[in-house]
Parts: sequence; C-alpha cells; structure tokens
Amino acid sequence: MTHSDNGFFENFGGKYVAEVLRRPLDELEAAFNEAMNDQTFLQELEIIRRDYIGRETPLYYAQNASKILGGAQIYIKLEGLANTGAHKINNAMGQCLLAKRMGKKRIIAETGAGQHGLATAAACAKLGLDCTIYMGEIDVRRQQPNVAAMELYGAKVQPVTSGSRTLKDAVNEAMRDWAANPDTTHYVLGSALGPAPFPDIVREFQSVIGREVKKQALERGIKIGAMVACVGGGSNSIGFFEPFINEKSPRLIGAEAGGIGPEIGENASRMTGNASREGIMQGYKSRFLLDEDGQALPTRSISAGLDYCGIGPQLAALGQTGRIEFTSILDKEALLALQFFAKNEGILFALESAHAGAAAIKIAKEIPEDKAIIINMSGRGDKDVFITSPIFRHEKWLEFLHAETARLEGGKDIHEAEVMK
Ligand SMILES: *Cc1c(COP(=O)(O)O)cnc(C)c1O
Repeated sequence: MTHSDNGFFENFGGKYVAEVLRRPLDELEAAFNEAMNDQTFLQELEIIRRDYIGRETPLYYAQNASKILGGAQIYIKLEGLANTGAHKINNAMGQCLLAKRMGKKRIIAETGAGQHGLATAAACAKLGLDCTIYMGEIDVRRQQPNVAAMELYGAKVQPVTSGSRTLKDAVNEAMRDWAANPDTTHYVLGSALGPAPFPDIVREFQSVIGREVKKQALERGIKIGAMVACVGGGSNSIGFFEPFINEKSPRLIGAEAGGIGPEIGENASRMTGNASREGIMQGYKSRFLLDEDGQALPTRSISAGLDYCGIGPQLAALGQTGRIEFTSILDKEALLALQFFAKNEGILFALESAHAGAAAIKIAKEIPEDKAIIINMSGRGDKDVFITSPIFRHEKWLEFLHAETARLEGGKDIHEAEVMK
C-alpha cells in the first residue's frame, strides 16, 4: 500500500471537498503525474535537493547512546540538518517547483507553529514566487521567531481570526483562498493529509528520506531492526517508511504525542488514544480525535508540530493493517530523550523528533545488538529554545527576558532601526 487506489488507502482518504475545489485538485493531480515522468523536472529538483536543501542528510551512528542503552545499535537520520532545519522543506520545495511548472505565480500555505510556513516562504524566495502564509492569530502571537523569519524571506503572514484562531482555521482559510483563485495560485499543503491527491504528493516528496536511508544502510551493511518516527500529520514518518512498507521487516513505529496524560484534551493520540474515531474533516477520511457529535476535540502537546487532531489517511490505514505500530510518548518522556541525545551525542532534537527518540530508547533492549534502530530526527531543536529554556532553566531565562525587555525599552537598538530606514 505505497500509493493510493484512486485517492483511497483502504477505507481512508478520498476527496471530500466543495465542488469548486474539484477542478484545481484534478489539475494538480494531472500536473503532478506529468512532472514525475519529466526528466527535466526531476533533474532540477535533484540539483535543488543537493545544493540548496543539503541532501543527502547523514545517517549518523549514535555510538555513545547505543552503548548506554544496550541492545540495538542506534542510528539517527539527521533531517534536521536540511536547510531551514527540518524535513518540511522537502515537500515545500517539491510543491513550489511543481506550481512553477504549472505556471502559477502565487503560493499560499497554512502553518501552525510556523515550520511549514517557514519552509514554504524559503522555497518561494528561492524560486521567485509570491507567498502568503495563513496562520491563526494565536499562533502568530506565540510563534514570533518563525513569523519574523517568514517575513525576512519576503512572505506575507496573514493572521486568521476565525474559529479557534489556530491551525485548523488556517487550513480552512487557505482552502477558501485557493477556491477563489485557482488559476493563479497553488496551495502548498504541509503534511501527508487533506483531500487527494495531497497525501500522495506529500509522501512522494518526503520519500527521499526513506530512499536515502535504504541506500545508506545497504552501503554500510546496516541491518535494520526497527525504524521510528514522530507522527503529527504524518509527512516525515510516511516519507521515512515508504520504501519499507511493502516489505515484512523492519518494524515501523510511529510515535504520537501523549501530552500530559490519557484524558480527553491532554494529548494528540489519534491512533492510540481514548477519543480516537473515524471521521471526515478538512477534505479527507481518517482517524481523528472527535467528540460523540463528530466535533474536533482540543489537543495538547509540548511539540507544536504534533499538536493536531487528525492523521494522514495512509498512516491510519497502515495502522489498521498493523504494518505500522503506534505508540504514545508523554511530554516529559520527550524532554528526557531530548536531554539524553544532547548530552550523550551532541545532537539537539526538535521536540517533535524527541518523541521518536523516546520511543527508540524504550525499545532499544527488545532488539538484538547486531540490528539497528533508525530514528528519524525530523528537525533540530534550535527553534524550541523559547519552550525548552523556561522548563530546563526557568529563573535564568526569566532574567534574560527581563534584561532584553529593559534593553529594548531603553532604546539601545534605535540606531540600527534608523540605519534601516
Ligand atoms: C511539522 C513537524 C513535524 C510533524 O509533522 P509531520 O507531517 O507528522 O512530519 C515533526 N517534526 C518537525 C521537526 C516538524 O517541524
């Protein structure tokens, strides 16, 4: 089940959209299929991957961690070394290049924490495309570092004031924009979900991760026992797993956000949680966290990228067949894993990716020494310093913020601001 069957993965997926979106989705599907058979397009993408994104990313042997944990040898796929700091650029760049090929001049995207917005804004800057990022007003307020970066890349960040003013509402707003401007505009969806053909497109552009892992493991004689990835919408995990889905081994493990506990509103466990239900939302059928009336429930996770009530349809299907196992990781387990790999390997995981790290720590002993566990480090942790610092070093961080506020209020940066005028 590596591709959809006419937009479906078993009983999940589909294209549950308003009539106005059917034509742009059909056109996108046709253009994508053409591009994937066009050597010029594929070569251009290959060069961008090499020189701009920085591929291939290393498959790093975490020797110290392996020794401490006992059992399997631990390897880390360092997606966080990709330009812009995470795997999101693989998809954003692929789709923007496709949009350009289709003659579109304008790109829109949704973003929650800002990581997909950042990657899309960077891709647009490189390819010379006009870029608008829809972002919930609340997310704009709490994710200022990413908003600032998007603006530096020349994107317009459009705050969304409807609904809960977060990711779900940003998706709705982007869909509305696309429905109104399908001829000039492409909507770059950020994860392996949404109406067909997006789950197929996003998986294809992310599967470069898994293809590299397969090649790297083969070249170095690494026998893979298990592969572990964190699962938000599912793009880094499905791309990482893709070349292995139709094989019996290795074990494929998806780590969901367990938040602070099992109760409703405390986590984002769409596959393993209490409130997990089948449903249709935002154009596709999958598993969601829903109440009895089919309304989306609130979710919680320390990692913004995993804090979403839905999961990609292909992952839902592969969870159902049992090919992918799902596990739920608490916030505090992710934080401990983050500290563990930082201290023992000098590698700083993004909070999302630290969920995969924690899952690997849990199963290391179940797998024999002559086999490997490969962790997909979907992103690096620099972006999380505003979340991790108040936890790991609360007092010092507060002092820093006070001092910064005083410095800015004292007008010390006025000279630079004048120069920029
Ligand atoms: C967005 C994000 C995720 C979650 O998204 P997926 O589509 O599930 O991959 C995970 N890790 C990082 C670093 C992210 O930015």
